[in-house]
Amino acid sequence: MQEYKLFINGEWVSSGTGETFNDVNPATLEPIGKFHKATEDDVKHAVDSAEDAFDSWSSTPAPKRAMILYKTARILEEQKEQLARLMTQEMGKVLKEARGDVQEAIDITYYAAGEGRRLFGETTPSELPDKFCMTVRRPIGVIGMITPWNFPIAIPSWKIMPALVAGNTIVLKPASDTPLLSVELVKILTQAGLPAGVLNLVMGSGSTVGSAIVCNKKLRLISFTGSLETGKWILGEASKDMRRVSLELGGKNPIIVMDDAKLDLAVDGVVWGAFGTTGQRCTAASRVIVHEKILPEFKRKLIERTKKLRLGNGLDDGVDVGPLVNESQLKKVAKYVDIGKEEGATLALGGNAVKPLPGYFFEPTIFTEVAPGMRIAQEEIFGPVVSLISTSGLDDAIRIANSVEYGLSSSIYTENMKNAFRAIEKIEAGITYINASTIGAEVHLPFGGVKSTGNGTREAGTTAIEEFTEIKAVYFDYSGKLQKAQIDVE
Ligand code: NDP
Repeated sequence: MQEYKLFINGEWVSSGTGETFNDVNPATLEPIGKFHKATEDDVKHAVDSAEDAFDSWSSTPAPKRAMILYKTARILEEQKEQLARLMTQEMGKVLKEARGDVQEAIDITYYAAGEGRRLFGETTPSELPDKFCMTVRRPIGVIGMITPWNFPIAIPSWKIMPALVAGNTIVLKPASDTPLLSVELVKILTQAGLPAGVLNLVMGSGSTVGSAIVCNKKLRLISFTGSLETGKWILGEASKDMRRVSLELGGKNPIIVMDDAKLDLAVDGVVWGAFGTTGQRCTAASRVIVHEKILPEFKRKLIERTKKLRLGNGLDDGVDVGPLVNESQLKKVAKYVDIGKEEGATLALGGNAVKPLPGYFFEPTIFTEVAPGMRIAQEEIFGPVVSLISTSGLDDAIRIANSVEYGLSSSIYTENMKNAFRAIEKIEAGITYINASTIGAEVHLPFGGVKSTGNGTREAGTTAIEEFTEIKAVYFDYSGKLQKAQIDVE
């Protein structure tokens, strides 16, 4: 089995103990590779290397840093198919979606590279004569990044590329279920000319490697995507030393289907949003709030369409739904199905683990007669389970949509402009789609949410640079005399 080492200070190195962990294909349970398990000392070494590299990297002109990203994007394009296949084997998502994941990495890399010739500050008049005012962007410093398994190359790229172009150096810890795509990404960035120490890769469990990153005071920002529970802990730890944290923590995303909606379009959107990536997206549609007038017909059509989905190995043509990523996700989904039944919801379709292959497959599952307060309608399941909730009208639907602790994505299907604009105004979420599903964010728009979905930061889009830069206000006084703001104004 192939062995993959840590990447510290520009070299592939064994972990301090030489210990490794295995990564398996969740569809077939075949091993993918052996990965070195970093120790706390390895993490410290990685952080020190990133700190040493900071001065030179942050002093490199941003357009020159960007040239490395342009080259990276071109290599990613050349290797797209190969990377997508590795991803399907490592994480299970079907090949078409894996290609989309790599494409997202390509898109954000080009987008961030463009920032090399922008990184805009502002100029503004001074209240005093012969004085010039402006803002400049500075890198934050050494950044710790902790990423999940559901977008194995897109999420690391969303964080790494803008951070690099802004002049930061990085220590990355990918999820233990998907380290391979991060290894490949680091190889590509190195091939494109990234200097030693600028990006360091440490692998191993969240509880040891992840927490060693979070607790290292040299890291001025921890950028994290994952569960609410881990995010809360990270926020608490980092804030003890006034270090910055950026959190993206999931959702319980609603689709509202009004009685004037195009039903088949809405059904397509729900099937894609609920069962794409086997429901393992933070933007997955897990609640469908349907107008009572059309609920029976919508339910019938949704069940009919969902029955046609084919489970299997994501590498095989014609497969729509791959496995869950690991056994604990499988158990979590099965537990929520039991909870739904106990709560009195009707299990209208699915509900079982199945074995088209030895891996972690779960049937696309639909609950009907779900009350908004039930746990299956409140908590993030992160699997192929969707709840249908009846509504009497738009205000009631929006109230239900907002009745959860998360606020990431949302959607409304309606042909009525007033309904659409009301939804845009009133739904508490970072993203609202009109007549499209809850998934499918594009890299040039801000991504993130409100309430417990995060701590207010946004990734990608124009905000990508904000996450990874500090703003400095500059006052340039060329009057040659002492001038006092607020005082010398008369
Ligand atoms: P976690 O939050 O546990 O894991 C996400 C990342 O954080 C992984 O790299 C993990 O490492 C790391 N990590 C775990 N514990 C710590 C810690 N104490 N300190 C620092 N890093 C840590 O999520 P899971 O993968 O366990 O998934 C659980 C649930 O989280 C899902 O069911 C889903 O609800 C939600 N989730 C949300 C995602 C999103 O996109 N918002 C993505 C993934 C999960 P390791 O892999 O080694 O455990």
